[in-house]
Amino acid sequence: MRTAIYPGTFDPITYGHIDIIIRALSLFDKLIITIAENSSKEPLFELEERIELISEATTDLKNLEVDHTGGLIVNYAKKKEAVALVRGLRFVSDFELEFQMAWMNRHLDDSIATIFLMPHRRYAHLSSSVIRDIAELGGDIDVFVPPCVSNRLKEKFAK
Ligand code: ADP
Repeated sequence: MRTAIYPGTFDPITYGHIDIIIRALSLFDKLIITIAENSSKEPLFELEERIELISEATTDLKNLEVDHTGGLIVNYAKKKEAVALVRGLRFVSDFELEFQMAWMNRHLDDSIATIFLMPHRRYAHLSSSVIRDIAELGGDIDVFVPPCVSNRLKEKFAK
């Protein structure tokens, strides 16, 4: 069985992430969406809320697991017997940081590949941070995030 890990912050999950998840599920037997707990980022949504939103937004998808880790992602992948890490590439500016991370992960463990997938064009300019900013200013985000995320953002910024 071929398992892949899709690591990220998912603060919050968007249709761009879900597009990548669906593409990855067509390539692997199992995908684990893993929230990487990153102490240098102050997230809008708590870890538990992000897990809840990912689970709710992906209930219709099979062969999917949602988890989190505070450690090195390659160590986590090894523990889960995964063969690959999945990352999404939107624009050329994503390349630099993604390549740096992929090289470093290869250095740490050459047995785990990094696979880059491109989303549909309609999600190519979408990021969680843009969604947070637009939601905070009261803009319409419903075409970019699942209803559970949209509702939670509205609740958060109504306070
Ligand atoms: P990170 O903080 O690691 O970038 P994110 O949750 O923002 O975490 O993203 C996780 C992965 O999903 C990254 O590889 C990112 O490039 C990718 N991603 C985020 N948004 C999109 C999108 N709209 N289309 C394709 N990939 C995306």
